[in-house]
Amino acid sequence: MKYLEIKEKYPNTRIIAVSKYTTDDKIIALHNLGQIEFGENKVQDLTRKKLELSNKINWHFIGNLQKNKVNLLIKSQPIMWQSCVSYDMAKYVDTRLDYKLQTLLEINVANEDSKSGITPENAIDEYLKIKENCKNINLVGVMCIGAMSDNLHQIIKSFELCYKIYQNLEKYDAKICSMGMSSDYEIAIKSGSNMIRLGSILFNE
Ligand SMILES: *Cc1c(COP(=O)(O)O)cnc(C)c1O
Repeated sequence: MKYLEIKEKYPNTRIIAVSKYTTDDKIIALHNLGQIEFGENKVQDLTRKKLELSNKINWHFIGNLQKNKVNLLIKSQPIMWQSCVSYDMAKYVDTRLDYKLQTLLEINVANEDSKSGITPENAIDEYLKIKENCKNINLVGVMCIGAMSDNLHQIIKSFELCYKIYQNLEKYDAKICSMGMSSDYEIAIKSGSNMIRLGSILFNE
């Protein structure tokens, strides 16, 4: 099975199983193989799965967060919010939190309009501003989605940019560089990723 192969090949890389397109049965099957961390990109889905599936699963929120869903997300107590895109959103969530939420700043490394995230130029300033002003937002690193391209060089470039920003933030306690999905996780790991988010490669077989 692909999951076990990847785990064995990359023992130092944290795997987040992205379950947005799969069935509850498949989530439980993977959980029974030892996978504890799962990711969802819709607040309602995360909330339902948190309630209905094993309470030993730790949930990551990885999607676009709308302000009107923030209270619902907090009630579901995800262990990580990977997709914080700005100080503004961080502040909005911070004032509603009653626990410290591990959070990653999402960086739009490919500068693609279709993608969310902060621009690379503003990432470090914004990171420090969140860290200083949001007491319940526990910033622990960065996240990105690699460039959507057939050009390998461009994909590598986008990961390397994210990794460089991460390295600059290590002195401010950044520990997680979340990059790499089913199609590009090996490239991401070579570029410095220590957390990969895998969906289709784990569930579509
Ligand atoms: C869907 C999704 C993934 C997983 O994508 P796959 O290509 O199925 O591995 C990873 N990260 C984010 C932010 C996603 O939305």
